[in-house]
Amino acid sequence: MEPWLEGLTPIVEHQDLKVPYRYSMGATTSKFFIEIRDRKRILGIRCPKCKIVFVPPRSICGRCLSSLEEWVEVSDKGTVQTYTIVHYATPAQPAPTPLIYGIIKLDGADTGLGHMINEASYENLRVGTRVQAVFKEERVGNMLDILYFKPL
Ligand SMILES: [Zn+2]
Repeated sequence: MEPWLEGLTPIVEHQDLKVPYRYSMGATTSKFFIEIRDRKRILGIRCPKCKIVFVPPRSICGRCLSSLEEWVEVSDKGTVQTYTIVHYATPAQPAPTPLIYGIIKLDGADTGLGHMINEASYENLRVGTRVQAVFKEERVGNMLDILYFKPL
């Protein structure tokens, strides 16, 4: 116990804090979401030096710090690299629990995309399961324009 707490019972106040905010996604992430929204196309971006294709795209390579500008279309199909099953519900979850979050390496990409996996049985899902993106009918330009990935 900290000396200044000696003989005191700390008062703890519990409150919910709502913080409205606006976030500019920038040119690179905006293009990524616009392509999904308008054409149901998933784009990556290739490093000119490392040749790594990043999905989701980024403007700077994390390995060599090159500026990234070479857009490439990747598949809406990919392979589950890892996953977890979430049983604890919070308001931040985009879907009711239990839900599955996975990292999916899309065909043509070198990095993993985090998203939900649905229409999958927990018993049969494995690292290496092939999955495909399921797009929302009315897309608005965010990550949930892909509803989830489902096993092929
Ligand atoms: Zn690089």
